[in-house]
Amino acid sequence: MGDKKSGSSTLPGADIELQKEFEQQQLATICGYTQHMQQPEPSSLGVEGGARLLSRADWGARMPKSVEHFEGPAPYVIIHHSYMPAACFSTPDCMKSMRDMQDFHQLERGWNDIGYSFGIGGDGMIYTGRGFNVIGAHAPKYNDKSVGIVLIGDWRTELPPKQMLDAARNLIAFGVFKGYIDPAYKLLGHKQVRETECPGGRLFQEISTWPHFNNGIRFNATTEQPPQGQALPVVPKV
Ligand SMILES: [Zn+2]
Repeated sequence: MGDKKSGSSTLPGADIELQKEFEQQQLATICGYTQHMQQPEPSSLGVEGGARLLSRADWGARMPKSVEHFEGPAPYVIIHHSYMPAACFSTPDCMKSMRDMQDFHQLERGWNDIGYSFGIGGDGMIYTGRGFNVIGAHAPKYNDKSVGIVLIGDWRTELPPKQMLDAARNLIAFGVFKGYIDPAYKLLGHKQVRETECPGGRLFQEISTWPHFNNGIRFNATTEQPPQGQALPVVPKV
């Protein structure tokens, strides 16, 4: 839903009101996130860590073409790797990776915005993508009921650094704490819902040890066809 391919890759100036509303809403929620991320409450977040959540403005995001929300706490959290771009370890590099992914999704694929809800860098920072409660374009059938988190890099054989894993877990805990994620959420790797290697074998092995990982959902390639125009197949951007 949403994110239909369009012939034009130019960004419309049309929905000014929507854009303003989105900016204000993002601003309000980001202020909240940042405050909590800087002063984590160990009892409620449950995960130690100094992860900070950076806003779209921080990484130089373009405006989304449009924004569609979904109601209620998300019952699923879906983990991805980017494959490309490769892992980044400095904040300027990770910001560029976010811009590259947005370019690819928005300009080349014609989606509304970067497909993911959030990105995590090797710098241990959390980068706002579409944000919570916004319909994503990262996992068919789950885009309107999940938080899609991409760990930037290729995690087929290497494990992401500890600060990345901590940031991802911190973000999930924070989402639950703030009511964006259902406390009984199910954690999935992308490959459980479509035919893909994502999030990479090593990262998948890691998240399968995390709380709420759900082994019961598996993609069945013989009965499910990948839908059009959704999710990111593991194809390098050359
Ligand atoms: Zn993926």
